[in-house]
Amino acid sequence: MTVVAGQVAGAAYIVAALLFILSLAGLSKHETSRRGVTFGIVGMAIALIATVWVTAAGAWDSEAGGAAVTGLVMLVVAVVVGGAIGLWRARVVEMTGMPELIALLHSFVGLAAVLVGWNGALYDTGLEGALADIHHAEVFIGVFIGGVTFTGSIVAFLKLSARISSKPLMLPGKNALNIGALVAFLVLTVWYVITPELWLLVAVTLLALALGWHLVASIGGGDMPVVVSMLNSYSGWAAAAAGFLLNNDLLIVTGALVGSSGAYLSYIMCKAMNRSFLSVIAGGFGIEAPTSSDQEYGEHREIDAESAADMLAGAQTVVITPGYGMAVAQAQHGVADLVQKLRERGVDVRFGIHPVAGRLPGHMNVLLAEAKVPYDIVLEMDEINDDLSAADVVLVIGANDTVNPAAAEDPGSPIAGMPVLRVWEAQNVIVFKRSMASGYAGVQNPLFYRDNTQMLFGDAKEKVEEILFQLSRVSELR
Ligand code: NDP
Repeated sequence: MTVVAGQVAGAAYIVAALLFILSLAGLSKHETSRRGVTFGIVGMAIALIATVWVTAAGAWDSEAGGAAVTGLVMLVVAVVVGGAIGLWRARVVEMTGMPELIALLHSFVGLAAVLVGWNGALYDTGLEGALADIHHAEVFIGVFIGGVTFTGSIVAFLKLSARISSKPLMLPGKNALNIGALVAFLVLTVWYVITPELWLLVAVTLLALALGWHLVASIGGGDMPVVVSMLNSYSGWAAAAAGFLLNNDLLIVTGALVGSSGAYLSYIMCKAMNRSFLSVIAGGFGIEAPTSSDQEYGEHREIDAESAADMLAGAQTVVITPGYGMAVAQAQHGVADLVQKLRERGVDVRFGIHPVAGRLPGHMNVLLAEAKVPYDIVLEMDEINDDLSAADVVLVIGANDTVNPAAAEDPGSPIAGMPVLRVWEAQNVIVFKRSMASGYAGVQNPLFYRDNTQMLFGDAKEKVEEILFQLSRVSELR
């Protein structure tokens, strides 16, 4: 019975792994993303059912004894409790809270890998010779990757949820600390394989927890998108390491898929932000402390909704660059109405989307699609940047870091070198935000003080609605 169940589960795991690959392929395009999600859900359901089935078959097997029954009870309790908490969190989480939730979920994968590693060390496998050496190396590497992922993800969660400052931690000799930790890990691994003593496992656990904390704490707010996808990748490798220890092929395949796709996403985001991939995954290795001080930029100018509506009514070309504030205010529906109204008046309206606008990859695209803004007027940063100088008006709706000229003009700025939307080249810029506060990277924005910029203070949704109202008034007057 148990053998047959094992074979059925093995076959189910292959089907699930294929569905996960199809899911990733589907998720890579707008048009096929829903199908991709469905493949993922079906694959995960098959994997879970197969796991419960194989455990249940073990529990029924008279030779297996009480341990298998305990295993089944624990599995069911874990699935029910975990599933209920997961469902509840997924239902209540705001879209803007997704990255921090994802970071928290990554920390669970890391913690699980540490626990599986410890279990593998304490449990007598009866292995000898080279097989025992491989097992010890697996335990050690699993605990290390899991530990780094665990604390790294917790720091990312704390930074993303603004519970701690997003500024980079600049410990003296931070690069030497990171390299030293890696060298220590290599030495400890060899030592543990030769003499698997418990204190070595304690040492590597503490080392990994400290390194994970330091790696992510050293990275500045502007580079957090890469950190999130990098931790996604680490969590995949942690799961794969646990898969080796548990002898579970599905976990190995799934972990490798998450690990490699996360690494590739990190690479793409680094390219988009003009950051060195290796430097970011090494905790900001080689990045010097920013030299810019809190400079005085002079006075800013303000505009009200009525004047903004008049300016838009007289414009021919308008570009909208949304950011995190549009998501917070949930202004996307009002923005879509504004676009429709302006287009009815013959104004050419387009969107410019920065690759890291908002708090998760594709955040703005999702919001605009939800508000039914046509895809063809939503352009990527590289597609719109050269046209910005020809725009009569640019509406910066809740964006800040992604339109900061300091990235292009101030080599000492923490976001120096990051490509940004060059909105300041337009005739007029209207910035929608509630105050003069800085953006996520904590960097002042000289755009707000430029001669062609005017600030429209208030909640973005309310201001967009006021402009819509004023635009109808302008139409009635004509
Ligand atoms: P920013 O986070 O730089 O700025 C958003 C601005 O929105 C703030 O300055 C805030 O100003 C304003 N705002 C907030 N709420 C409202 C509201 N209700 N109405 C109007 N304005 C509001 O946004 P960007 O999108 O330009 O940049 C994204 C930043 O987030 C980048 O630094 C990026 O690296 C980082 N990041 C991105 C991730 C991703 O995957 N995309 C993940 C993690 C971080 P005020 O308070 O004055 O209103």
